[in-house]
Amino acid sequence: MRTTLSAILLLVLAATALAQQNSPDSHFDGNSWWAHVKFLADDSLEGRDTGSEGLRKAQAYVVGQLQKAGLEPAGANGFYQPVRFNQYEVDESKSSLALVTGGQSKSLSFADDAFINTRSTRASANLSAPLVFIGYGLQIPEKNLDELADLDLKGKIVVYLAGSPSDIPTALASHYQTAGERWKSLHAAGAIGTVTIFNPASMDIPWSRISVNRNHPSMDLADPEFYETPGLQLGVSFNPASAEKLFDGSGHTFADIALKANAVILTKALESSNIVAKLTGSDPALKNEFVVLSAHIDHVGIGAPISGDRIYNGAMDNGSGSALAMDIAASLKAHPEKVQRSILFLLVTAEEKGLLGSKYFAAHPTVAPKSIVADVNVDMFLPIVPLKILKVGGLEESDLGARAASIAQSMGIKPIADPEPLRNLFIRSDQYNFIKQGVPSVKCDVTFEPGTLEQKIFKDWLTNRYHAPSDDVNQPVDLQAAALYEEFTRRLLLDTANTPARPRWKPDSFFRRYAPD
Ligand SMILES: [Zn+2]
Repeated sequence: MRTTLSAILLLVLAATALAQQNSPDSHFDGNSWWAHVKFLADDSLEGRDTGSEGLRKAQAYVVGQLQKAGLEPAGANGFYQPVRFNQYEVDESKSSLALVTGGQSKSLSFADDAFINTRSTRASANLSAPLVFIGYGLQIPEKNLDELADLDLKGKIVVYLAGSPSDIPTALASHYQTAGERWKSLHAAGAIGTVTIFNPASMDIPWSRISVNRNHPSMDLADPEFYETPGLQLGVSFNPASAEKLFDGSGHTFADIALKANAVILTKALESSNIVAKLTGSDPALKNEFVVLSAHIDHVGIGAPISGDRIYNGAMDNGSGSALAMDIAASLKAHPEKVQRSILFLLVTAEEKGLLGSKYFAAHPTVAPKSIVADVNVDMFLPIVPLKILKVGGLEESDLGARAASIAQSMGIKPIADPEPLRNLFIRSDQYNFIKQGVPSVKCDVTFEPGTLEQKIFKDWLTNRYHAPSDDVNQPVDLQAAALYEEFTRRLLLDTANTPARPRWKPDSFFRRYAPD
């Protein structure tokens, strides 16, 4: 009898342990997360555009919540770090683009063929220059790839296809495709302008939706130290469906085609802020080091109406990550575990303008630059299906990636590396600015098994809701997935804060080159 009883007890204990492993004790239920998302994505906040009143209201709400959670201000001005921007807008009524072949000029339609991109056209320009096709236009010394070899690009406008050859590793390909890196080699070769043909293989948003918002102003950091494309006079974005106009030329070779452009650019200065708050660690030495939890709070604001709605609410992008930051702060107050390193809560502005708020912070942090040991970035983690598989961006690059994977595994979640390298996600959110300062970083997202219904849910979401007014609170979300993701992030932060050794890049990681030894 006794043996049987203890055998049963043992079984019960084992079952409990197993249950804990599979559905871990959680500090979150998804409800407070959703309440925060609802506040941030409300129509009254008008899509939280950088520099707007709506974003200021969202930020005041976040600061209030972080204060309530007992965090201390860690910005330059209380919880805020002011950042100055310039805004650029095309006056299309006074601008034009045309292809010139054998003295004949054919104008291009801004809506259907190509538009002037103000991210790369910073001043009014009136010019005509020959076009040269350069493939992907990449120079990647690590892979002996040089698509510019033997080309005369002096005074030319280069035409390239967005993306990279499929045999180039993701991290490397991502890095060399950033605007600054790409332009470095083109500028050195003498080019004066770029035409980017969007790559249908990697377009998250169809041309029609990109085109309808083409006149939304772009921004850059006002401080000239951040200007990455000196000498670039004109940047044009080209519809892949119209690309044959660049190539046919009825009997003419590609080399005979010139692009004639008249770009009228309007500029304006404005200011916005990052939010920086800290939870001070308990260890007398380690508390001077920081694990950063970053999330962008801005979105794209008000845009062209789609189905009668012009407010781009940004519920998942990135109300979801901002809400997570508030939830995690509150949970650390309600359930204070030992936290040895300090945790920095960073809600950046102007991510949608080109990762600008984080770029500014990473270059001018409000804590000692060398004290930042890791960045865990959360951006649009998409809890729209149950969290069974977690994509760990940066999985193979550092022991922080490996730690994220093992924590996911311990929670019954399968960690995987980025299965869609063509979408270039590793450079498309704020972690990239920390990586460039040498800080090991990860960005994790809910994902799917290929060939499943979940894959279709994700594809439909990107096509229809990503950067559209329908990324609002009238969409189905999985609150349990959100809660589980929050729990994962909380454990990753605590584990990183409490592990004596700082995270390190793997010896063979491309990004190790940025790390001071
Ligand atoms: Zn976005």
